[in-house]
Formats: sequence, C-alpha cells, structure tokens
Amino acid sequence: MQMKRRTFLAATAATLSAPMVRAAGHGKPRVIVVGGGAGGATAARYIAKDSKGEVDVTLIEPSRQYYTCFFSNLYIGGFREMDSLGHGYAGLATNHGVNVLHDWAVGVDRGAKTVTTAGGHTLPYDKLILSPGIDFVDGAVEGWSVADQDVMPHAYKGGTQAELLKAQIMAMPEGGTFAMVAPPNPYRCPPGPYERISMVAHLLKNTNPTAKIIVADPKGKFSKQGLFEEGWNKHYAGMIDWIGSDFGGDNVSVDPAAMTVTIDGEVTKVDAANVIPAMKAGRIAELAGVTDGNWAPVNAADMSTKADPDVYVLGDASQQGDMPKSGFSANSQAKVCANAVRGALTGSRVFPAKFANTCWSLIDAKDGVKVGATYEATEEKIAKVDGFISATGETPDVREATYVESLGWYDGITADMFS
Ligand code: FAD
Repeated sequence: MQMKRRTFLAATAATLSAPMVRAAGHGKPRVIVVGGGAGGATAARYIAKDSKGEVDVTLIEPSRQYYTCFFSNLYIGGFREMDSLGHGYAGLATNHGVNVLHDWAVGVDRGAKTVTTAGGHTLPYDKLILSPGIDFVDGAVEGWSVADQDVMPHAYKGGTQAELLKAQIMAMPEGGTFAMVAPPNPYRCPPGPYERISMVAHLLKNTNPTAKIIVADPKGKFSKQGLFEEGWNKHYAGMIDWIGSDFGGDNVSVDPAAMTVTIDGEVTKVDAANVIPAMKAGRIAELAGVTDGNWAPVNAADMSTKADPDVYVLGDASQQGDMPKSGFSANSQAKVCANAVRGALTGSRVFPAKFANTCWSLIDAKDGVKVGATYEATEEKIAKVDGFISATGETPDVREATYVESLGWYDGITADMFS
C-alpha cells in the first residue's frame, strides 16, 4: 500500500512540474516575439536565457541593426555618434539560442496560432509576444503623410530619420526657422519632443545662433514642463517659441512642398520642420486583432491582451494604465511578461508583477533632469505606486550627476536587451 501511495505522489509531482503547454508533434513549447526593440529583444532574451533551452524562442525583426530612439536627441545635439546607438542581434542568438529571423511579420492567425512573414514563412506558436512599437495615425497633421517624411521628418523611429533631420537643421540658412509639430497624448516618450527642442537649440546656438525655433503643440502642458522652461530660459533665451493649445497650437497644418507651417491661421515659411503626428500601436497588433483601433489593451499582471490570453503586447503598442510609453517601461514590462510566459510554458515560478520607469532628458551640456516612478499590477491596470522628479533650481553638480546616471542607464538597458 505504501509503495502505491509513493508512486501516486511522484506522479502528481511530475505532473505539476511538467510543462503546461506542449505543442503537438513538437518537443518544446514555442514562443514567437515580433519586434526586436526595447520590449521584444528583452522578452526574447529573458525567456531564452531563463528557460535554458526548454522553450524555443523565435524573434522576428526586419532590421539587422536596431538604432535606439533613446539618446537619438543627444545625437542631434552633438553628444552622441549615430554608430553608438546601433545594436545587433548576434548576442541573442549566440549567448541564448534565440532564433533570430530578419523578416516582417505580416499576419497573425490566432485560430491556427501561426504568424506569417513577408518572406513566406508560416510559423506556429504556443505564445505570441508583440512589441512592434508605434505607427502614425493617418491624416493626424493636416497636409502631412508618411510620404512626406523625407521633406518634413518625424525622426520618431530610430536611425536614418534622425540623421536626415539633423542634416536639414545643419543646412538651415543663418537666422532661419525650425518648426516642430508636437504630438497629442498618448505618445512614445512624453519628454522626447522637448528634449529634442533642447538639443536642436543647443546645436543651433553653436552653429546658427540667430535661428528661431517654433513649437506648435496640441497640448496645453507637457512632461517636465517647469524643468524644460527653466532650462530654455537659462541656456537658449529668446530662441524658442512654444505655442500650446491655449494659443492655437492645436490648429496646425503643414505644406511640405511650400515648406510652410500654419498655426491658427498664421502661415510661417520654415527652413526645417519636424512633424511628429499622433500615434497608435504598430500595425501588426491591429492585424492580429488585439487593438481597440489604436492601442492594445492588456492585463497588468502578465501583459497578455484582453482579446487573447496567448497573445501578449509590450511597450508602446500596449494600453496598460499609468506607465509612460518609454524604452525603460517596455524593458520592465518585458521582464514581467517573460517570467509569466515561461511560467505558463514550463511550470517555473511566477513572481508578482512589479514595474519601474525613469525618463532622463538632457537640456544642455551636463544639464540632465529625470522623472520616474514604480508601479504594480492591479485588476484594472498597471498602477503608479510612487514617483520622483528633478527639482527646478538644482545645482550644476546635481544636474551633471543626473546626466552621468543616464549614461549608465543607457549602457545597462542595451546590455539587458542584446547581450
Ligand atoms: P521599439 O523599440 O520601437 O521596437 C519595435 C520593433 O518592432 C522595431 O525594431 C521594429 O522594426 C519592429 N517591428 C515593427 N513591426 C514589425 C513587424 N510587423 N514585424 C517584425 N518587426 C516589426 N525611452 C526611454 O526609456 N528613455 C529615453 O530617454 C527615451 N528617449 C526617446 C527619445 C526619442 C526621440 C524617442 C522617439 C523615443 C524615446 N524613448 C525613450 C522611447 C523608446 O524609444 C520607446 O518607448 C521604446 O523603443 C518602445 O519599445 P517597443 O519595444 O515598444 O518598440
């Protein structure tokens, strides 16, 4: 009798620790990750690394080199080289056994649980993680479409757009005008447009000090506004004209052929223009049928979508609650998701979801500021627990220390994504 009972216990233990998902005819559970950016690269790396070969992880990403949007403003300001922002995928493949497929995902069949690619692959999954970043809302800025991005760049996806924008700023005539059309909420990197204005001002102060900067903003206020305005007055007095919604900044059209920007009926001829339209989830999330038309609503505990428990959305494309759309947020969400997905597939321990974010911004050389918070998962959303923000009037030493901290963060997060 005793033997029988022991056998039963052993069998129960084996069942409990056995993988909960085994695809028919396939030895290992399969995870497909679409998008090799802050969310996707981190998720692929953590699932592969921590499952030690128990889970088959495929990352689909068209680019061989990922250029971070984070610190691309510092490239515009002359504080970083573009090469220093590029990261490859060899570490994920070599160190952790991630199958990296350089291709576009073009369809998701949630019934058959497959992803199809532009290169003609149909790949089965047990769990699908989408982290495709953002796309722009068609017609969001009157007169501008993606076809105009070479004339009036958005520079809001990594790489060549930032190079183009910088080249156009450098080519401005003496005393010329640079205009930015800022995006409405919610959008990728809330302080990003204003850090960019700071970096454009820094560049122009050195190369074209009589140039002017106009910002048309559909919002009435913006992230770290007090800190940016203090910095702009201190470093770039008289250079920057921010026009918020109270002054017609929400009534804008552009004419890329004529190089004009019209704000509340007033037409201005500009020499360089940066149009950052309203955003929505990257298109593959829409094609997968997991968005509400703009963003993908997710469950805070594991980043699974409200539409499908086997499809997860990370980073900018998700609608999760209180976290800003940032690389730090995407990386933090990816680790929570990776832990939950690995647990669901292998029976490994799943820890309660905890999230963190900090957004650093550079206003001028060594003048860094930050805002950040910690978060927890509630039934309803990712909810803010507590936060912090740099103060106005801080000493140069504090601001320099904040900038140095941001350099350490950049090295840390990119290693956490790609090494
Ligand atoms: P991404 O990192 O954009 O990755 C998406 C990836 O998906 C891309 O590589 C893309 O090629 C791929 N992809 C898209 N569609 C498909 C498809 N169909 N098939 C296959 N692959 C696909 N964040 C910070 O934390 N700190 C900062 O200081 C900061 N500064 C910023 C400054 C600027 C100017 C900008 C624009 C952004 C900044 N951000 C910053 C925000 C940060 O870049 C994003 O929030 C972050 O990259 C989001 O990660 P993600 O994984 O959602 O998307």
